[in-house]
Amino acid sequence: MWCSAGSNMPDQNASSVSSSSSSSSLPAAPAAPQRRALIIGGGPAGLMAAERLARAGVAVDLFDAMATVGRKFLLAGKGGLNLTHSEARPRFDERYFERQADVAPWLDRFDGEALRRWAAELGVETFVGTSGRVFPSNLKAAPLLRAWLQRLRGQGVRLHMRHRWLGWTDTGACRFQSPEGETTWEADAVVLALGGASWPQLGSDGQWVPHLSAAGADVRALRPANCGFDLGLRREGETTAGWTPFFVEKFAGQPLKPVALQVSAPDGRSFARQGEFVVTTTGIEGSLVYAASGLLRDIIEQHGEALIHLDLFPGREAAWVAEQVAYPRGSRSMSSHLKSRLNLDGLKAALVHEVLDKQQYGDVATLARTLKALPLRLVAARPVAEVISTAGGVRLESLDPTLMLRTRPGVFVAGEMLDWEAPTGGYLLTAAMASGVVAGDGAAAWCQQRPTPAQ
Ligand SMILES: Cc1cc2nc3c(=O)[nH]c(=O)nc-3n(C[C@H](O)[C@H](O)[C@H](O)COP(=O)(O)OP(=O)(O)OC[C@H]3O[C@@H](n4cnc5c(N)ncnc54)[C@H](O)[C@@H]3O)c2cc1C
Repeated sequence: MWCSAGSNMPDQNASSVSSSSSSSSLPAAPAAPQRRALIIGGGPAGLMAAERLARAGVAVDLFDAMATVGRKFLLAGKGGLNLTHSEARPRFDERYFERQADVAPWLDRFDGEALRRWAAELGVETFVGTSGRVFPSNLKAAPLLRAWLQRLRGQGVRLHMRHRWLGWTDTGACRFQSPEGETTWEADAVVLALGGASWPQLGSDGQWVPHLSAAGADVRALRPANCGFDLGLRREGETTAGWTPFFVEKFAGQPLKPVALQVSAPDGRSFARQGEFVVTTTGIEGSLVYAASGLLRDIIEQHGEALIHLDLFPGREAAWVAEQVAYPRGSRSMSSHLKSRLNLDGLKAALVHEVLDKQQYGDVATLARTLKALPLRLVAARPVAEVISTAGGVRLESLDPTLMLRTRPGVFVAGEMLDWEAPTGGYLLTAAMASGVVAGDGAAAWCQQRPTPAQ
């Protein structure tokens, strides 16, 4: 008995991007597979695990809480779908910080090059952008997802949409809330690929945490990654909640560039890089901030705040900037003087007014120092629900090298629900899919070594 109670028929209307015909270039699954696996979560990690299991001849039923799979993948497509990065290993591996040694074996199985070949097999060519990031040539996610689902269906993968996993029964069956009520399913292996907790409206809401903890997994708290921050300012010796109303009204949404961001943690870690970011109503966000976000988040968690310094003239020496500020200005106001000597205006000029009081602004040395190291005090990461990715999750020590839970044999875990993090640049999708490969292959091997089930 492979499933119990409730419908086991796939939802034929499961996905708006699905199709019934197959364009698979992979070997077709055997007609009557003897082993069955459940994949729970239809993001890139779960779909990849499904592909590997189906290729190994295992019957695959894939469940997702939403009406369609791959919603976050499609959202990523709105930003051009940065699939992976072209940089060579082992530099690539370093993007996974303290987890690089754990992620490296996944990348040995499926790295950026393998991902590009995989996309090409599905009829989607890729290109390397100027920053080294890799994108589909049409910059879209939907055609790739559509081709992928078509191939999966051709391999016999059955999709069950609107099936929310609720944990396990006392006997170890998987419980689902479905449109028909609660159903339970059993199988030789289960792959959980439930994502993190960002953008819960797309399906990944982190509700799996208590179930995994109850199953004996060590789960690290889910935290924001690649996120923006709220700030408090030091103004006239006092701390205010954030930007002034004038500044928000005039500059929220505007990009600050070029700028360099520098921060040092008390534990010795530091970040210093040039780039750009955006001013928000409550603080800052954008690529340069995301790149520093793991360190900033950790500093705030440990010390309550993180003090960053911005260099508004990253291409200029401090001495040169000081010289321009100190240049005799005659009857001109300081603002006109800075505009004429340094071309300082708009957002950058307003930023200086946000952090200096009138007296400080009039002091040439303080002003020059601030232009090269403008202090901003960040007090909170944005909530995990609105950020790009999630840190924390199932600690890798809870899993064996095939990503099987040590405390629950036959249950594998993949994707963003695992405890690793990486910057933007295609590293997130690459590791999510690579872990799907490892978990899918692990589950297939587990299925093959199981005794033949009673028919
Ligand atoms: C705005 C944005 C842009 C991004 N752009 C990029 C990019 O360009 N490049 C990049 O590398 N990464 C990008 N990412 C990150 C990337 O999308 C994720 O890292 C990736 O989708 C994670 O894959 P996953 O399969 O682990 O989880 P998800 O894609 O989150 O999929 C998890 C699935 O599990 C389902 N699920 C959750 N709970 C349950 C449950 N209880 N029962 C049943 N189903 C459940 C969800 O509905 C979902 O379909 C972006 C993220 C965001 C938010």
